[in-house]
Amino acid sequence: MEKYIERVLNSVKEKDKYEKEFLQAVDEVYTSLDSVIKLHPEFEKFAILERMAEPERFISFRVPWVDDRGNIVVNRGYRVQFSSLIGPYKGGLRFHESVNQSIIKFLGFEQVFKNALTGLPIGGGKGGSDFNPKGKSDNEIMRFCQSFMTELQHHIGQDVDVPAGDIGVGAREIGYLFGQYKRIKDAYEGGVLTGKGLSYGGSLARTEATGYGLIYFMQEMLKNNCDQTFAEKTVTISGSGNVAIYAAEKVLQLGAKVIAMSDSNGCIYDEDGIDLGLIKEIKEVRRGRIKEYIERNPSAKYFESKDGNFPIWDIKTDIALPCATQNELNLDSAKKLVANGVIAIGEGANMPTCKDAIEYFLANNVLVAPAKAANAGGVATSAIEMSQNSMRYYYTFEEVDAKLESIMKNIFYSCKNAAEKYNLGRNYVAGANIAAFLKLAQAMIEQGVV
Ligand code: NDP
Repeated sequence: MEKYIERVLNSVKEKDKYEKEFLQAVDEVYTSLDSVIKLHPEFEKFAILERMAEPERFISFRVPWVDDRGNIVVNRGYRVQFSSLIGPYKGGLRFHESVNQSIIKFLGFEQVFKNALTGLPIGGGKGGSDFNPKGKSDNEIMRFCQSFMTELQHHIGQDVDVPAGDIGVGAREIGYLFGQYKRIKDAYEGGVLTGKGLSYGGSLARTEATGYGLIYFMQEMLKNNCDQTFAEKTVTISGSGNVAIYAAEKVLQLGAKVIAMSDSNGCIYDEDGIDLGLIKEIKEVRRGRIKEYIERNPSAKYFESKDGNFPIWDIKTDIALPCATQNELNLDSAKKLVANGVIAIGEGANMPTCKDAIEYFLANNVLVAPAKAANAGGVATSAIEMSQNSMRYYYTFEEVDAKLESIMKNIFYSCKNAAEKYNLGRNYVAGANIAAFLKLAQAMIEQGVV
């Protein structure tokens, strides 16, 4: 490996040694930049790799709130403002008990590259809390969100930092967060949060955007590889949240059959094709567990997840879409998928596939649509939501959807062109890293030592 990359990676490993996920994300990007660094020795002089691995700012704060029994609960809130090189910090908030500094930094680092790929003026940030929303009442969620925003509002603004949703943060949470922000600031600043409800400044097609965008990217990828399509293909999708549900909706529109979906407890397998309406009712309306699906569809099967093992990857499928969480698809699962004849992987979640699993897929000629590029449709549509808020105007669903589709196609060709230029064949994972990195490096050099 190029000496400069190795030196910076060793220094990041030394400084951030306890941040497992963050180290994994930096390692995955930097080890794919060998050929670029060789061609651009000036990047070392400008300390590009060192600067990209260090967030501009990391904020951690106390979030005290009162539960329904009157107990005071204290959670920890975070916001990483990773890079404002090409626009205001932009990236979602995650509420999940696993959230810690390493997870927020890995997500923020990935977000910088992803946002650069969209071609839109957005920098990278991420935030969240170790608050677990499961089983909480609406009032508890509201009180938590209000307390979280009471601190976060010091650090955000529509030209400064614009949060959105992620795991555990959907339209309900964004509504409570926005209401509290507006109350404290005493002004309607529509572009300060995205993923807003349609009644107060949200964009049509934002709910669908990440899932739809993933499939638009994959459609282009399949077309460019032997003119393949989704029609008649079987598809398995991990997760049953925002990304998974709308990826499923789009592949169904394209004539594919979704045969399995999951949540953190287990997966359902329905060889006749999943009834997406029922999944929406269970997950979006009732906020229930995916297991309830088999009560209404007794011919479907349910497999429990055990010891961090995700049974959904044992199922034979043409296309697999990991849309739940990081590191959910490991090397063992990759081997099973390849043995079962999988042709393409589409990463809807952030960093869902372990590095050795990605290498195994690529070595076995399986197409991989990398998260940074393939799930960028959500943030791209958030940027479209921000422009609508600035214009005080709304686009129709069809207008936003058409912009999303064209952005996702452009992102695919950025990845493809970079992969081809650096002789990496169909390695779109490296292609995405290189295309984003070159854009950011250029902006860094032009802006001086900042
Ligand atoms: P949601 O909270 O809507 O859904 C998450 C889904 O993943 C749920 O089905 C959840 O199951 C499952 N899940 C979460 N954590 C785990 C875990 N540790 N193990 C197994 N399953 C888990 O989140 P989103 O759909 O918004 O996000 C999913 C992924 O997509 C994340 O990686 C996120 O960062 C990424 N992403 C999201 C974007 C967006 O616009 N929403 C944009 C780009 C990326 P359960 O209900 O049991 O918790």
